[in-house]
Amino acid sequence: MKIAYHADSKGYYGEFGGSFVPEMLYPNVEELQKNYLKIMHETSFKKEFHSLLKDYVGRPSPLYFAKRLSKKYQTKIYLKREDLNHTGAHKINNTIGQILMAKRLGKKRIIAETGAGQHGVATATVCALIGMDCTVYMGEIDIARQAPNVARMKMLGAKVVPALSGSKTLKDATNEAIRAWINNPVDTYYIIGSVVGFHPYPDMVARFQSVISEEMKWQLKEHEGTENPNYIIACVGGGSNASGAFYHYLDNKNVKLVAVEAAGKGVDTGQSAATSILGKEGVIHGSKTLLMQTNDGQIIEPYSISAGLDYPGIGPQHAHLFKTGRAEFLNATDDEAMQAGLELCKLEGIIPAIETSHALAVLSKIKFSKEDIVVVNLSGRGDKDLNTYIDYFNLK
Ligand SMILES: *Cc1c(COP(=O)(O)O)cnc(C)c1O
Repeated sequence: MKIAYHADSKGYYGEFGGSFVPEMLYPNVEELQKNYLKIMHETSFKKEFHSLLKDYVGRPSPLYFAKRLSKKYQTKIYLKREDLNHTGAHKINNTIGQILMAKRLGKKRIIAETGAGQHGVATATVCALIGMDCTVYMGEIDIARQAPNVARMKMLGAKVVPALSGSKTLKDATNEAIRAWINNPVDTYYIIGSVVGFHPYPDMVARFQSVISEEMKWQLKEHEGTENPNYIIACVGGGSNASGAFYHYLDNKNVKLVAVEAAGKGVDTGQSAATSILGKEGVIHGSKTLLMQTNDGQIIEPYSISAGLDYPGIGPQHAHLFKTGRAEFLNATDDEAMQAGLELCKLEGIIPAIETSHALAVLSKIKFSKEDIVVVNLSGRGDKDLNTYIDYFNLK
């Protein structure tokens, strides 16, 4: 039987996904479920989305042949340069799409959750662009850890509300955002930052991010005379940059898909975010997926040096890609990622985000042949991580 890798009409990827939402939100979620595909297929929507991606985000992002990196790993390595997007990562592709969705649905206010603040900044950015009221929920501890991003959000006109419950980090911010939505369901639109949450978010976010692999196809054709690489490598927090990079290749088994999770201090140390290995089936933020939890279902706090990868779950599509074996799931420790990030600096003059450095770290773990075409999705730039790099490499 042919396995389907995209969401079905109820938002399921095999056994994962679905829509487990509080009853108060049914009407609102249903409105989105019924309309998102119709709206995304409207000519006027597509036109506005693509014109903003071009003139505001700066797309298409280059597909760059990394000559010195290729020489080192004895294969042909291309970097898909999402780091060159406005605001420094792939996240803006999704927030542009969702703010236009909110506008089409007649919504007046935007809410979002953020961990490290990257999604909060991308959301505050598009709210300023369109002129919508923006509230971002963020764990109190993350607010203290991520001061520059908090300042950015405020400069962009967003209100940042601390989440004071639980561990005061991302999952608590998400709970706060959902609570705020329940209190204002009619005029509020919730922008989720990755391929997580209840249907239709995982599918909708993957579609907005799929511009990455759409461009990859014609760019590879120009460089190599074929649309198809042998490998696509991407890091996975929730999984949105990976979903976008894999999207148009999911049904082409000749293209090997490699998802890289954060092993933190090591998968066996209790300080890790390698969800596919450590996770068990459960429901988080309204969808059934793999998540790190204790035997009685308490969520285990994830750990990674990279703030964008320490999410206790993965999107349901990735749980399915893992379960079916369609994607290979590897992981990289903090140390491996930091060294790989520094290597890219020295060999190519590109300072990557630490999330992205995890994807780069598996180049040394795969046996490539000389003719292989390998695409690494360079999800973001390292400016935001400078302090972590400074501390780690003692650059003062
Ligand atoms: C947020 C972020 C990630 C992780 O999010 P995904 O949804 O898994 O893509 C990866 N890289 C960068 C640069 C990020 O900002």
